[in-house]
Amino acid sequence: MTNILEITDLEVVYQRPGGPPVRAVAGASLSVARGEIVGLVGESGCGKSTLARAAVGLVPAAAGTIDFEGHRLEAMTRRARPRAFTRLQMVFQDPHASLNPRRKVGSQIADALVNLGQRARAARDARVAELLDQVGLTADAGDRYPHEFSGGQRQRIAIARALAAEPTALVLDEPLSSLDASAQAQIANLLVLLTRELELGLLLISHDLAVVRQVADRVCVMYLGEVVEQASTSALWSKPLHPYTQALIAAIPHADGSGFLPEALAGEVPDPARPPSGCRFHPRCPAAFAGCESESPLLTSVAEYREVACRLYPAQTVGSTAATPAPIAPATRP
Ligand code: SF4
Repeated sequence: MTNILEITDLEVVYQRPGGPPVRAVAGASLSVARGEIVGLVGESGCGKSTLARAAVGLVPAAAGTIDFEGHRLEAMTRRARPRAFTRLQMVFQDPHASLNPRRKVGSQIADALVNLGQRARAARDARVAELLDQVGLTADAGDRYPHEFSGGQRQRIAIARALAAEPTALVLDEPLSSLDASAQAQIANLLVLLTRELELGLLLISHDLAVVRQVADRVCVMYLGEVVEQASTSALWSKPLHPYTQALIAAIPHADGSGFLPEALAGEVPDPARPPSGCRFHPRCPAAFAGCESESPLLTSVAEYREVACRLYPAQTVGSTAATPAPIAPATRP
């Protein structure tokens, strides 16, 4: 599969008044291919939403590169850049906030068509009706205001508005988190359907691993600004390698309400302005051993389509048929 979006060694730095700079994204790399859904997961504050905003140009990158449709976004002329960005659309967490409450839904969707040069009113109305149908709404929805819809319907409208720009890739920042369980399942199914039908590349940011497991083809796990593991969804769930991934998956609430994250991961996510030395995860890692506090593990291929940033796992030749490598024995554990 050809990558439509490729993010390499991305850094996003915020300046805090009177404080040290915050590396919210600290050298993260990931890619998304056409027809593929990539889930980006991690605890709140891990930098996943900042990465998403940088990917679509809403916040500047301090370092690293973003390639979209084979073009380096930073290197584009001002004239070329907006056109490229229309094919890389973002859908936000709260559709109520992202839609204008004073304008009818149809005219908001039609804005993107006008930007694409669609001037004829009749053709525009027909396309709006088509887009509404594509997301499971009837054509008369275009004549109503956002407050007349449920949360799930509003997120469908936000997706229709994004699709109006004829994107090849979508970045969705927690698109399901403000919805009830039933609407979540319906929107998740819609995203899978649209990805396959339109051959979109989807980067889905979510703190909800159950949702990501349901829809994503591949998963990237972020911790404190860094990608610590990447794998196919099935491989990640059948055998998570990074201790942080293991804890995240174990913490998915069970039917009886249990989950062991608080016990397994002591403490809070550290302040990104003062990240721990060595492996950023070491103060909370139940598997930490000598050297983890001083050596920063790099994201390394440990099997085909499998990367992990943890000193427990030796690098392997990319293309190895080993599904999941055996961890090396730590020298000494505290
Ligand atoms: Fe834990 Fe060490 Fe691996 Fe970091 S490098 S995740 S501290 S075992």
